[in-house]
Amino acid sequence: MNERMRGLGAKKSIIRELFEYAKTVRAEKGADAIFDFTIGNPSVSAPKAVAEALTHLIETTPPVILHGYTSAQGDPAVREAIASYIRDTYKAPAEADRIYMTAGAAAALCISFHAILNPGDEVIVPAPYFPEYKVFVESAGGTLRPIPSLQGSMKPDIDAIRAAINEKTRILLLNSPNNPSGAVIDGESLAALCALLEEKSETFGHTIYLVGDEPYRELVYDGITVPYLTNYYKNTIVCYSFSKSLSLAGERIGYVLLHPECENADDVYAAICGAGRALGYVCAPSMLQFLIPYCLGRTSDVSIYAKNRGLLYEGLSSFGFECVKPEGAFYLFLKSPEPDAYAFLEKAKAHGLLFVPGDDFGYPGYVRVAYCVQSETIEKALPRFSALAKDYNL
Ligand code: PLP
Repeated sequence: MNERMRGLGAKKSIIRELFEYAKTVRAEKGADAIFDFTIGNPSVSAPKAVAEALTHLIETTPPVILHGYTSAQGDPAVREAIASYIRDTYKAPAEADRIYMTAGAAAALCISFHAILNPGDEVIVPAPYFPEYKVFVESAGGTLRPIPSLQGSMKPDIDAIRAAINEKTRILLLNSPNNPSGAVIDGESLAALCALLEEKSETFGHTIYLVGDEPYRELVYDGITVPYLTNYYKNTIVCYSFSKSLSLAGERIGYVLLHPECENADDVYAAICGAGRALGYVCAPSMLQFLIPYCLGRTSDVSIYAKNRGLLYEGLSSFGFECVKPEGAFYLFLKSPEPDAYAFLEKAKAHGLLFVPGDDFGYPGYVRVAYCVQSETIEKALPRFSALAKDYNL
């Protein structure tokens, strides 16, 4: 067997371990014995349009089409609908023949890394970051190079990124809105990062690509907008997913979008198709592909996440905890009142609370509290957070 694969399969992620722990405690002591804020599984239902469109598709589409293979890169009409939506909504460059449909953002990221990276290449990512990036980048032969974001705002540290870019750098990977911090990269910071990529591509004589991971694009609060990457930098690949916006995480649908004016766009797109082929992604789930044109621009009810965010952020801040105010996604990044976030987690467990230490996101000293739960769970959990704060004399 392959030792690396055995290792990846045998070692459970901390999130999975905590999830199992919560299940055991609940089975032994009852549902309210532990409030689990570990997993990023959307709790808000998919919009009605999803069920309506699926019913319509099942009733009207011949099964050989609805359930059959599409072309490897995805159904052309579906890709055209997505490209047209992006052009109209973000006034951004997008073409159907530069889109590749995937089983979610995870597949989109794996395809992008395999398409671009050669052994020894580096991917710079601001920390905190989604832990699977390391697995995906290493599987493609690259090395992940996390650069801590600025304390407080959790915005990318542009000077530190500038200092880190070297001749091995091939990709800058940005996730905005961010899991786990909820931070959004504004247009000004994005423009500065893109100018840096232009400059460093010139210095090192090769293209440094911008890869955006955007499953939380629509989950934003207080009227914040997320700048569209292809408006800023031509050597861009966007990895998108409907997992969170439509609450369809288990259905596995998303796409890779390559900037139409990317240098050597034909070759880069061929590499994307080649990576999809090499990874065995025959085509993205076809019924879910056909659903997408009916649901572009729709989301689950974001106001529920906004309510949860308010409850949690206001509540925890009033108890004396230091929190990063989330601008998007459905996670709150909380500063551990002691340097060791695992020790903080142990104290929280004693109060029947569970969340994930920031160490697993490359940012020790913090924890991630996922608020994609029922609002009632947060209301019931707040007195426990208050008691936890008192343990630390906050
Ligand atoms: N990227 C980030 C930042 C995520 O949080 C997740 C899932 O939680 C993914 C990618 C994977 O998403 P998908 O379900 O679309 O594969």
